[in-house]
Amino acid sequence: MQASDLHANRLANRVKLKDAHIITKMTDIAAGLEDVIKLGRGDPDLDTPAHIVKAGQDALGRGETHYGHPLGLPALRTAIAENIKAYGGADYAIDEIVVTPGGQHAMFVIALALLNPGDEILVPCPGYNPYGQAAELADASVVNIRMSMETNFTLTADMVKAAITPKSKVLVLINPNNPTGTVTAPDEVEKIAKLAIEHDLIVISDEIYARLTYGNQRIQPVASLPGMRERTITLSGFSKAYAMTGWRIGYFAGPRELIVAMAEINHAFAISVASVSQHAALAALTGPQDCVEEMRLIYDERRKALCEGLDALGIPYAEPQGAFYVYANVAATGLPASEFCERLLTEGRVLMYPGTIYGDYTDDFVRMSLTQSVDRIREAMTRIETVVNTIRAERKAPAA
Ligand code: PLP
Repeated sequence: MQASDLHANRLANRVKLKDAHIITKMTDIAAGLEDVIKLGRGDPDLDTPAHIVKAGQDALGRGETHYGHPLGLPALRTAIAENIKAYGGADYAIDEIVVTPGGQHAMFVIALALLNPGDEILVPCPGYNPYGQAAELADASVVNIRMSMETNFTLTADMVKAAITPKSKVLVLINPNNPTGTVTAPDEVEKIAKLAIEHDLIVISDEIYARLTYGNQRIQPVASLPGMRERTITLSGFSKAYAMTGWRIGYFAGPRELIVAMAEINHAFAISVASVSQHAALAALTGPQDCVEEMRLIYDERRKALCEGLDALGIPYAEPQGAFYVYANVAATGLPASEFCERLLTEGRVLMYPGTIYGDYTDDFVRMSLTQSVDRIREAMTRIETVVNTIRAERKAPAA
């Protein structure tokens, strides 16, 4: 096969690969620099809590090194069902829950099971872009619902209503949202749910950051709203709340009728999830929960430090209400955000990503992850100020 044949490949044709390309490029640049402050990936710098690591080590010591149940360890699915319920979610039997190698994998399984060619899937924009990629792989049409600073980048029922057509089949709600770190309030979620019922939509409710909210924000689980259990797939995981990104474990839950096909696809893709990770995840759910609160408070402190820094620099941002991101508008620098990110990395040694990676329809915003200590965040702000001043000075005195 010729290398050029790869361009005919289904994946390369259908999925926009530029996003992974930008991340790879920035990661490569960062690797060649010393002392980079990394506010890029959504990967907690905090370690997985010790009791969870120990449960994984114990599982390995016991020889838990085989394939497991295709839907996931029954004890883990029982714990997931209890956990969903404890946080105001719907009631699920354990055959309505599928454990997956990460929530990201789940997006592809769900999309392939739900979407037929030509179906429309409504996706918040900016939002977590693999939803669009998964839908493209399923030959569905992605309808981006554009959000803006006007609503603090939160999805509203009016926006959803305006995007619905007779072909609309699935709506994605990511709450709290990545990359914007914003929350759709419970009353708005209720209105969106009513629309979903009215227009016979299935909702994929991504609640992976639901335990990381700040101030008086709260996440309303979609599936427990009246009439929604039968039309909602809830996606979540362990990566964010328990700092377990590298264990690669997540899950989704939904009504049995929908789950059967998804379980089949999941099995075809993954067979089962690493047993060690499943035992660690079980310990995460059944062990002490103080670790989640401790990490949330750390992110909250960082969030405040970062916002203070942005305020001092006069850089506007969406009010961060959840997850561990701040979404800031760098248009006043005069550079597109993607270019600004590259200059900031090479000249200031601060890594962050442009919003375009998350499907943003403007190139004005950057996403900053709260994955560094308060001191490092303050240092990042000093570096940002220097680079912004350099850019401003260049613009005032253009080269002759
Ligand atoms: N959902 C959202 C909104 C995310 O931001 C991410 C990762 O960043 C995921 C799901 C997937 O996480 P994982 O595959 O680590 O469970």
